[in-house]
Amino acid sequence: MLVEERRIISDIDAIGDSRLLEDSGDSSRTGCAALIEAVSLSRVYQRGAETVRALDGVSFCILEREMVAIVGPSGAGKSTLLHLLGCMDAPTSGTLTIGGRSTRGLSDAALTRMRRDTVGFVFQQFGLLPTLTVAENVLLPTLFSRKSAAKRAAELLERVGLKHRANHRPSELSGGEMQRAAIARALINSPRVLLADEPTGNLDSANGEAVISVFRKLNQEGVTVILVTHNEALAYSAGRTITLSDGKLVSDLRKPEQ
Ligand code: ADP
Repeated sequence: MLVEERRIISDIDAIGDSRLLEDSGDSSRTGCAALIEAVSLSRVYQRGAETVRALDGVSFCILEREMVAIVGPSGAGKSTLLHLLGCMDAPTSGTLTIGGRSTRGLSDAALTRMRRDTVGFVFQQFGLLPTLTVAENVLLPTLFSRKSAAKRAAELLERVGLKHRANHRPSELSGGEMQRAAIARALINSPRVLLADEPTGNLDSANGEAVISVFRKLNQEGVTVILVTHNEALAYSAGRTITLSDGKLVSDLRKPEQ
């Protein structure tokens, strides 16, 4: 057993079920009903001679149908965490289980499959291809999977309020509409979780508000949403806020039921 592996196992033992319960409410490591379970998750980068602990022993559970905002100052480790949750990067130590499957020891190909089947990603810069129509952009991820999709793309565009824009090019859309198209695209393969990195970061307040209400509506319809944001209104919309600082989880708060 590698020293690293021993450390991870002792870290997990040290955390125990009680802290997970405290951090994340009604879930536990044994028989955890969580969609996502992170245990002592760390990501260390080497920058020349400097070692950067971007994420440092973070543990939490996220349940199906939750909407969670990840907040904290710049450099706190938010994007690093989102990339791990999106299987775009692997932790240096700790364990991450998504939909009951550990990401530990998965090959790059297996991580890619897990990413494709489990998460939809929305970025700050919408990432729409300008030469395709809105509907074609939404269909793009289905080129790599065999699900029949045109009907679902139309349905999703309707859900995000863009039915009337399906045959337009992205350049004919407002920023908020582009982001709503990107959200529809992220949902096309029916992921178990929608991840978003600063989804309102490039939008004025009116467009930002439209995007926030789409996230809220999708979450009410049952989509699990995890987003990194500096936007207070968006963070407030989430039922739960995880705050990071210097790579550590400093608070994990649920909004009281209204
Ligand atoms: P946030 O999203 O909260 O602004 P990040 O997750 O982007 O924070 O970064 C956390 C820390 O890790 C920062 O100190 C950042 O400089 C560092 N970091 C992020 N990515 C890398 C990388 N690829 N190589 C080296 N350091 C990195």
